[in-house]
Amino acid sequence: MTQPPMAADLLIAGATLLTMNADRHVIEDGALAIRDDRIVAVGKREALEREVTARQIIDGRGFVLTPGFVDGHIHITGDPLTRGFARGAPDDSWNDKLQKWVIPIFKAQTPEEERIAAQCAALAMIRYGTTTFIEAGTVIHLDAVMDGLAETGIRGRVGAWVEGRAFDPSQDQAQLSAKAIAILESEIERYPDKGGARLSAWPILVGHSTNSDDVWRAAKALADDKGLRVSAHMSPRAGDPEWFLAKYGRRPLEHLADIGVMGANVLLTHLAAIDHSELDILAKSGAGAIHCPHAAMQGGFGMAKIGLYPEMLERGVNVLLGTDGLAADILSSGRLMASLFRDARGDQDIFPPATILELMTISPARAMGMADAIGSLEVGMKADLVMHDTNLPEWGPIFDCPAQLALSAPPGGVHSVWVDGVRLLDAGRSTVIDEEQLMADVRAAGRAVIARTGLPNRTAWPVL
Ligand SMILES: [Zn+2]
Repeated sequence: MTQPPMAADLLIAGATLLTMNADRHVIEDGALAIRDDRIVAVGKREALEREVTARQIIDGRGFVLTPGFVDGHIHITGDPLTRGFARGAPDDSWNDKLQKWVIPIFKAQTPEEERIAAQCAALAMIRYGTTTFIEAGTVIHLDAVMDGLAETGIRGRVGAWVEGRAFDPSQDQAQLSAKAIAILESEIERYPDKGGARLSAWPILVGHSTNSDDVWRAAKALADDKGLRVSAHMSPRAGDPEWFLAKYGRRPLEHLADIGVMGANVLLTHLAAIDHSELDILAKSGAGAIHCPHAAMQGGFGMAKIGLYPEMLERGVNVLLGTDGLAADILSSGRLMASLFRDARGDQDIFPPATILELMTISPARAMGMADAIGSLEVGMKADLVMHDTNLPEWGPIFDCPAQLALSAPPGGVHSVWVDGVRLLDAGRSTVIDEEQLMADVRAAGRAVIARTGLPNRTAWPVL
């Protein structure tokens, strides 16, 4: 008896599939079928062409198909509008730049400007194959941002900017904490993470020293209760350990463990300046670590000298990659991370190509609690796909597809992207956003934000 054909919306036939399944199957002359928002068949082209009847067929020959990539840490507003603005006076310290320039620029944004910024960030991510991101905790006008993101079709976990720490003794600490906790509770109620929601809110904290213990505990309790993740910056450099040691006599992760907020649903970004006792806490708690190599290298974190990411992987810590908004291209983050630690350790065997690809797909999917939905090309998973064009000089003949994608493929070689089975990119162009209009809006919004701050553009060279 022959089986009746399987109905599908789309069949991509003839591509090389990097499935990222448990056996890491690479399927040459493969095919993949999707129906609605799910993958319904994965296998060899010949078999699927027999078994599947699809409304649309795409010739996948010459393309590599991968799961969508994950950017574990990105500031989607502020930066996209103003990244070119020359910030800081010549003798400003890093902290001066942050307090007098970076934060005022962020806070000068209107809801509409933040909406435009978020769309710009989403479009840039999609162009490089990122289909899921974790926002970094610096969104001010959450509703406008969520509205803008919904139009782009990207998958993301976003949180409003929350600052619940009284640094000035005249401030009421209890009141500040209560206000911060109310923001967390409200956003999670408005944007619940259930039913396979593409966009939802997580209790994302700016981190460092910006929140009280009460806010940390509330964020963790919300994550425990609703099956979410807490994410926060911590210890990019020595400032955080120094602050925690001065205030609590404990290093940051020791303190977070003391107050009961470490756990598998906690994802901490940077963690350059941690010591071995904190590595122990990280490994035992199951918390994830997000490495943003662009930020580490440009920011002079000393990651190559002091970072413990190779040890984290050895200890089974879930490691994610992030761009921190300094690049849209998560593939280059993976390459940089590998290069950074290979050079620092004098070891060309650490962070092999397979690991680079895992850190962009299945590792973050697991850390985000989404391993049953994203991160691999398997039946039943969300149809979040990237089609890479190999008819490009950087590819050449294919002998080892995963290694070539991880190390030498042009990051801009992404041809098409689907999220939830919806094609968002075709031949490198958005199918859902008017790119020319968006870029015109981005330029106008960026100039308006800067003008509102009154800050001077201190370019290094005189502009005539
Ligand atoms: Zn960040």
